[in-house]
Amino acid sequence: MLLRGLQILTMVPGSEILDGDLRIEGTRITGVGHLEAEPADRVVDLSGYTVLPGFIQGHVHLCQTLFRNMAEDLPLLQWLERRIWPLEAAHDEESLRVSARLAMTELIRGGCTTFQSMETTRGTEFVFDEVHRAGLRGVLGHALMDLGSTNHPDGLVLSTRQSLDRSARLAADWEGRDGRLHYAWSPRFLLSCSDDLLRQVSQQSRTAKQRIHTHASEHASEVEAVRERYGRTDLEVLADLGLLGPRTSLAHCVHLDEDEKRLLKSTGSAVLHCPSTNLKLGSGIAPVAEYRRRGIRVGLGADGAPANNRLCALTELRQAALLQQLLAGPGSFSAREALDLATRGSAEALGLQGECGTIEVGKAADLAFFDLRDPLLGTHPSPYEKLAWCADRSHLRSVMVAGQFLVEEGRLKVPSLQVESLAKDAERALRNLLARASL
Ligand SMILES: [Zn+2]
Repeated sequence: MLLRGLQILTMVPGSEILDGDLRIEGTRITGVGHLEAEPADRVVDLSGYTVLPGFIQGHVHLCQTLFRNMAEDLPLLQWLERRIWPLEAAHDEESLRVSARLAMTELIRGGCTTFQSMETTRGTEFVFDEVHRAGLRGVLGHALMDLGSTNHPDGLVLSTRQSLDRSARLAADWEGRDGRLHYAWSPRFLLSCSDDLLRQVSQQSRTAKQRIHTHASEHASEVEAVRERYGRTDLEVLADLGLLGPRTSLAHCVHLDEDEKRLLKSTGSAVLHCPSTNLKLGSGIAPVAEYRRRGIRVGLGADGAPANNRLCALTELRQAALLQQLLAGPGSFSAREALDLATRGSAEALGLQGECGTIEVGKAADLAFFDLRDPLLGTHPSPYEKLAWCADRSHLRSVMVAGQFLVEEGRLKVPSLQVESLAKDAERALRNLLARASL
């Protein structure tokens, strides 16, 4: 396929804006620049469109999408105990599949081609199957929780052995599937996991060279609870248990002290920044401009729908850039850096930089096509400012993952994500789930 007439933002560091064409063969980009059509090419004229790498959301929870607008006005620990855990515990196959389809519909319609998701403690195989069917690129993990308390609903917490066995089975079944799916060992957070579980996650993921994805240092009350249990900070404990390293990504990292920031850097662990959720749950502002200046990898994510309540990459990257102006001063985070966070930065944070995150020969053809000729986006020609500060999803025209258009000229082309049937399915699934939930 030859895509003609594009303004190309490759997101390769130091690169200029290119005017030219892209050649796609199979799932990959095989040409970037001024290209001659070859007889076998299917030529698609996209004159006037701007293309950039598809957005990558480093931290979401597909299984929570059905609970949007149902966990309002609570700080983190109450948000989990009163709403999210009871709702997750009530999931069955039907509700998990619908929740995953709702999430992916929103992600893809916002230009997101890749995500990393922490699921719940049961049924992650159904979510994997929905991602496999829909065609997005995803890193998924079954949430590990082996520490119960009176605040945990029945059925959510599994034994240490069950938790590990389920993760190992899912990793064996899905890692590398379709060339698009990956597994991440996903301890929910320190307070949900025994030390034994966490040590074994460290060992098993290290042996198999697999990813670890967890939450850390999100809210002051959680940091305080960790200090009560261990007498130390989140990242000190994670480091002692062997969970930090170049294959680890940590959602939030809002309240790190100087020693913890050094640990991030020295272990090569990545941060997944979720600015809207941090604001909505009153958690604070992660100093991501500082993290990047220190050479720490940072990606971006919307987190779960009940905490945000959107799953929109453009919203998050704008929010991220705005907050850093407040925290570190005007000019501390440019429009281009915000876009970098949602593309190349997130790819690096997830260890996917060899697969996606930039437009280069050899990378996967994961692309988002925008029409930025709307005068309401300003007439100054800079596409970075138009995208980061002004555009919304109405300016997105097409989205491609692994060489397939999943959205083309505004039309969603994924058979499993048809909005009309999805609305009815979601209504029924939520009604049934609420009948089961002990809220
Ligand atoms: Zn989360």
